[in-house]
Amino acid sequence: MQLKKVNVFNNVVYLKSLQSGDTLSNKKTKPWLSPIQYVEVIVLPTRAIDQGIELPNSENGGLTSVMSEVCSKECRYLVNSLRPNRYKGKKFKGICNQNRPLNFWGAQIKKIYASEFLNQIILHDQYQVRVSVFGDIGSLNEEGLNFVYDLIQNSNSHLAYSADWRLDKMQRFKTLVNASVFTIEDALEAYSLGWKGYGLSREDLLKFRLLTNGEVKAYTCPYTTKTLKGCSVCELRCNGEKWISLGK
Ligand code: SF4
Repeated sequence: MQLKKVNVFNNVVYLKSLQSGDTLSNKKTKPWLSPIQYVEVIVLPTRAIDQGIELPNSENGGLTSVMSEVCSKECRYLVNSLRPNRYKGKKFKGICNQNRPLNFWGAQIKKIYASEFLNQIILHDQYQVRVSVFGDIGSLNEEGLNFVYDLIQNSNSHLAYSADWRLDKMQRFKTLVNASVFTIEDALEAYSLGWKGYGLSREDLLKFRLLTNGEVKAYTCPYTTKTLKGCSVCELRCNGEKWISLGK
């Protein structure tokens, strides 16, 4: 099946695949180990197409501006000025480490969008998809969400997370996407809405398990920096089916 690499909705859904000539070098996901085609979804602002390489610069609003357009307002990895108060303080240090290639992606999608020849990706009969590397699908309009939903449904397997699991429009993803949860309170809320979460520490997931009278089975992410395996070949898989804690 042929799709566009740069898909414009209210935000851009940018598809990248090793098998379509893209370089994917994430050490945790290890796309090169996937036995079938590996596709990544990145959500970017539409102005990336007009502004290209200037996308994340401080002169035009910088990372704060990009995050306010494409990220979940409920993510703990937002820049401090956007981060919800409950995720401020010692325990919640650090911002999204996927912001580094923004500049590069902005330039890429500008170039690809301008060329009918470059703006295509062939989906193999068998593929897995990761949703999303940067940006949250909760920032998309219904048309964009339909596109992502079909991409997941037509895949052989997928990896997916969202911090926007509280939004009404996201409820149809609750069996496909892991809810990003950062506190036990988040986990209880996600649980009451029927989501399965990823992101608690192992200790907090065990406490949460007790709070649900053991109803929740707790799995631990097997990834470590020393392992040769990555998400692309993970047997647990963050695909909305299990409660999974961080590996530490
Ligand atoms: S559980 Fe598996 S898919 Fe999820 S983050 Fe860990 S290694 Fe990746």
